[in-house]
Amino acid sequence: MPSISDASSGPGYPRAATIDDFVRNIASVRARIAAAAERSGRDTSDIRLLPVSKTVGEDRIRLAVQAGCRELGENKVQEAKRKQGNLADLDVRWSVIGHLQTNKARDVAAFAAEFQALDSLRVAEVLDRRLQGVGRSLDVYVQVNTSAEESKYGLEPADVPAFLAALPRYTALRVRGFMTLALFTADTPRVRECFRLLRTLRDRARDADPALIGPGELSMGMSGDYEVAIEEGADCVRVGQAIFGARATANDHYWPTSTE
Ligand SMILES: *Cc1c(COP(=O)(O)O)cnc(C)c1O
Repeated sequence: MPSISDASSGPGYPRAATIDDFVRNIASVRARIAAAAERSGRDTSDIRLLPVSKTVGEDRIRLAVQAGCRELGENKVQEAKRKQGNLADLDVRWSVIGHLQTNKARDVAAFAAEFQALDSLRVAEVLDRRLQGVGRSLDVYVQVNTSAEESKYGLEPADVPAFLAALPRYTALRVRGFMTLALFTADTPRVRECFRLLRTLRDRARDADPALIGPGELSMGMSGDYEVAIEEGADCVRVGQAIFGARATANDHYWPTSTE
């Protein structure tokens, strides 16, 4: 059963219920991003904050957009599609950040601006075909399993070079870089190792053939670990609970993974 006691959720994130709440939460996340960037000698304007609105109702999403959110991440295609349809009057860029089954590729091709969880050539192929069909292209991040957990989605690090080499034939996919989820643990050094591994893989991929990895961005870091991710080179952090408030459901409701 889902519990609310894992390392990355819980009562520490107050629920945003007004525009002012969202303005405050977003400002506080941005301040922490800026501090982490400064600590690591980076420019805060180079770091993209992707607010993650999964499980959040459309009324509160409207408030978040009024408070300044211009893009939103969702990890389930059905939920993202419904929200995109009902909120089509808003100027929002939708990013799908969760595992995709091939039978949902058509939906992603229809509405998403970006897909951050590409981890199989089968999905790449079907997505490319659907995109060609509607005359669109899509930004994608290749998801890598950096935590060595059996149950997590994402490519094994050793499989990354061959996977990148196979992607250019899917011409509707524009590779932006890599995405990962770190271990869910309060043990910061182990979390940091996951982020470092992703950066190392990116650096190696660039050395081997920079054309295969586009801008080579790193999408890593969530509410519980985005500052560490920035210290380790994150270009995009995906933050849900620190903006919207704690979710009632634990992360193992969204990923087939055990929490620590
Ligand atoms: C839910 C989710 C996030 C954000 O997690 P929070 O704890 O809400 O910040 C980031 N990335 C992915 C892939 C997610 O599913």
